[in-house]
Amino acid sequence: MKTAIINSESHEKHDTGNGHPEQPKRVIVIKDKLKKRKDLIWEKPDNVPENILYMTHSKDYIDGLRSSFPQKGLKFLDGDTVISPDSKKAVFDAAGSTIKAIDGIENNKFKSAFCLARPPGHHAEKNKAMGFCCISNAGIATNYLISKYGFKRVACVDFDVHWGNGNYDVMRDNKNALYISTHQYPFYPGGGTEKDKGNFNNSLNIPLPAGTNSEQYFNAYDRVLDRLIEYKPDFLLFSAGFDAHKDDPLAQFQLTSKDFYEITKRTLTATNKFTQGKVVSILEGGYDLNALAESVNEHINALIEFN
Ligand SMILES: [Zn+2]
Repeated sequence: MKTAIINSESHEKHDTGNGHPEQPKRVIVIKDKLKKRKDLIWEKPDNVPENILYMTHSKDYIDGLRSSFPQKGLKFLDGDTVISPDSKKAVFDAAGSTIKAIDGIENNKFKSAFCLARPPGHHAEKNKAMGFCCISNAGIATNYLISKYGFKRVACVDFDVHWGNGNYDVMRDNKNALYISTHQYPFYPGGGTEKDKGNFNNSLNIPLPAGTNSEQYFNAYDRVLDRLIEYKPDFLLFSAGFDAHKDDPLAQFQLTSKDFYEITKRTLTATNKFTQGKVVSILEGGYDLNALAESVNEHINALIEFN
């Protein structure tokens, strides 16, 4: 079976203003790179069922978000989370790409999927937009897996260089979810220390210092693998941020593009026998355009090896 890329043109129309690092070119360069491959299936997002939206975020927040998109110009939801008229479709398509990905896997249309979507989601909390993010796309995926398909042990591995405070917020009180993050610390958004264990000891957070290189990262990543093997997930999600790359302008880790192949491969090697290879990966950060396209391509290389 194949790997699917879930993508909509709406993601290129989410205008964040000149000079914003979370820019349309991010998905354009990845798409250009992946379109050269012949081993991928391309699919469009589906709608997110309303009950899943309200299960993941508060009803007040979702209803307020729906009515907050401007008729023209830019609007700031926080200091760096910008939306514009075409952002509404992009935001709900990003969340809906996870629905298409999960349904496709459960209906045996493909084995794994990468949601090539923006805005990212892992900073969006139950009640607030934050850090370029409006909806926790991984949170939506988690709740859909559990409520539609009855999964009992959904693991989300977030290797974005920033702590996914939003993912943590929407998963911490979910007995059927395990949230794992490696991230630069101290750093934006704050938090994500070893003390953040979730309400049911269902979160593992591994803070690492600025300057962390490949060897240091993989030494720490062994703890992620150990926890996954102990947990025996029945479905795996990646909150896949590529801003731990050495060329990324927003953070100070020293990973190479090839390291994202290695992260993916090691993770799937650990979880494959529990998940039967079922994995949905969701794009989060990554702000150097060349490094981003290269790193995503490496990530996909590893996903495909397990098909
Ligand atoms: Zn990030």
